[in-house]
Amino acid sequence: MSLTVIGIGPGDTCYLTAQAEAALAAADAVYGYGPYLDRLTLRADQERHASDNRQEGARASAALKHAAHGAKVAIVSGGDPGVFAMAAAICEQIEIGPDAWRALDVVVIPGITAMLAVAARIGAPLGHDFCALSLSDNLKPWPLIERRLDAAAQAGFVIALYNPVSRARPWQFGDAIECLRSHLPPATPVVFGRAVGRPDERVEITTLGAVNATLADMATLVIVGTRETRTIARPGRPPLVYTPRAAAEVSV
Ligand code: SAH
Repeated sequence: MSLTVIGIGPGDTCYLTAQAEAALAAADAVYGYGPYLDRLTLRADQERHASDNRQEGARASAALKHAAHGAKVAIVSGGDPGVFAMAAAICEQIEIGPDAWRALDVVVIPGITAMLAVAARIGAPLGHDFCALSLSDNLKPWPLIERRLDAAAQAGFVIALYNPVSRARPWQFGDAIECLRSHLPPATPVVFGRAVGRPDERVEITTLGAVNATLADMATLVIVGTRETRTIARPGRPPLVYTPRAAAEVSV
């Protein structure tokens, strides 16, 4: 009678925490988006329930129903399950679902979220105050996203952008960059981290003025710096991007 929501990190199994591994091993059944389940090695006696990317609500209620029937159920998310992922979908279903779901033992196991994995690749862009935004307008209106981008840039936060593009959302990322260009100087460092922790990983450093919006895809996390964020060139090595721990003045 338990449901464990497990963060499996950004890619390779080396990012699985020992806690996540133990929780996976204890599960009778594992639910998740197919490609996430493919990253895991499940035993023959463990049931595998793969579902499509967009079906979070249905996946959450199926897992809750299964757990309420007495099984030890795990549901996995890439990165951290609490960041634009399954833990909130589970809570949403518990809130509207039958009373039996409130009696379940629900455990959330954290994982390394994409912005931390990308940041670690290139230095310390999140070294000072930052925020994270999903650019997906599937569950919120686009004008709200623009308002949040305006506010975050004006307040001087480093901004981590999740879900920059998808097949159904081709123009939003370009609009977001235009919005940020209206607040921040062209030299502001921007990092594109694609499929970090996977074999096809690619990390690129550019500037807000030079951003090519077509560089982002569904597997990309974008970090937009502040006026304080700096790039350190190094001979024979990739540059370091960092945001100093101190902000001297109100810079917006
Ligand atoms: N729960 C996940 C985020 C899910 S939203 C987490 O904590 O990381 C999906 C978005 O996360 C993608 O569109 C992309 O912006 C980002 N993302 C997930 N895995 C990534 C990876 N390995 N490298 C770069 N970005 C990634």
